[in-house]
Amino acid sequence: MKLLVTGGCGFIGSNFIKRMFKTHPAYKIVNLDKLTYCGNPENLRDIERDLRYTFIKGDICDRKIVDKAINGCDAVINFAAESHVDRSIEDASAFIRTNIHGVYTLLESAKKHNIKRFIQISTDETYGSIRKGSFKETSLLHPNSPYSAAKAGGDHLALAYYTTFKLPVIVTRSSNNFGPYQYPEKVIPLFITNLLANKKVPLYGDGMNVRDWLYVFDNCSAIDLILHKGKIGEIYNIGGSFEIPNIELTKIILKFLGKTDKMINYVSDRMGHDRRYSLDSTKVRKLGWKPSKSFDTAIKETINWYKANTTWWQKLK
Ligand code: NAD
Repeated sequence: MKLLVTGGCGFIGSNFIKRMFKTHPAYKIVNLDKLTYCGNPENLRDIERDLRYTFIKGDICDRKIVDKAINGCDAVINFAAESHVDRSIEDASAFIRTNIHGVYTLLESAKKHNIKRFIQISTDETYGSIRKGSFKETSLLHPNSPYSAAKAGGDHLALAYYTTFKLPVIVTRSSNNFGPYQYPEKVIPLFITNLLANKKVPLYGDGMNVRDWLYVFDNCSAIDLILHKGKIGEIYNIGGSFEIPNIELTKIILKFLGKTDKMINYVSDRMGHDRRYSLDSTKVRKLGWKPSKSFDTAIKETINWYKANTTWWQKLK
């Protein structure tokens, strides 16, 4: 198989590419990435000379470059996105462009090139906030930030191309990921790297917003499984089944790094901040997937990675 991975220099995409070369040694991968502020070729330093790997610098909104990258590929896995909610509140334009028009451009090109699988990587944030219970794949979307609204637009387009053109689309919606190579603006790497630099951590509001944490390697294993065994036209939720309020998460990180609550700086809440995300992942578990490690083990490994890779994150701070 030859895969087109978009956004492969980002956090999840780079972990996914490395996994695929290990689990499917005969596969070839083309990585199309625009290298925005969070696209970092260093994430793939160890495989950049691999003969199975091709890198193309380009924008998923640029039809010419997309056609060039997709040529000869069997499947598309679209990770490319603007992904940071706070940035989308400041200026949503790049989010609308990449997360909607970019998806449209990829879908049109995939249609022309008879792609056998199109995996649209999406997020639990498209469902919005839920007080009790968990969202199923059949739940209505209620995105509350410009980021999640743009992602929902991309998802709807992808599924419409399945219904209208029988393009073999599958959508995955995962909960919050954490692990190596995550840009240090997102909460877990931000808090770890701040504390390693002896700086306070900014905690939004009352800290009681609940997130469901998923180790990035587990998201990648689920996407690998869905790429090969998932049913066309379907949506798959991928949740880590580890829900905690942000204040608890903060205390876990503080404890592992030997710091006290004095390092918490409570800041005014994010506008439109979703209170709780929760996914029902029964469907992907029925395919044979489950998270590989406890949160405790995964967060310890993650902290150790940031401790061991200061040169990677120091220049991004
Ligand atoms: P990221 O921000 O780390 O990486 C995004 C990558 O996309 C970067 O390499 C960037 O250069 C590239 N990119 C951005 N715009 C592009 C464009 N127009 N053309 C080509 N490349 C472009 O993001 P991530 O955290 O790895 O997330 C990957 C995907 O997973 C996104 O679609 C995101 O919505 C989704 N997702 C992320 C999480 C999470 O917790 N990180 C959770 C659920 C879903």
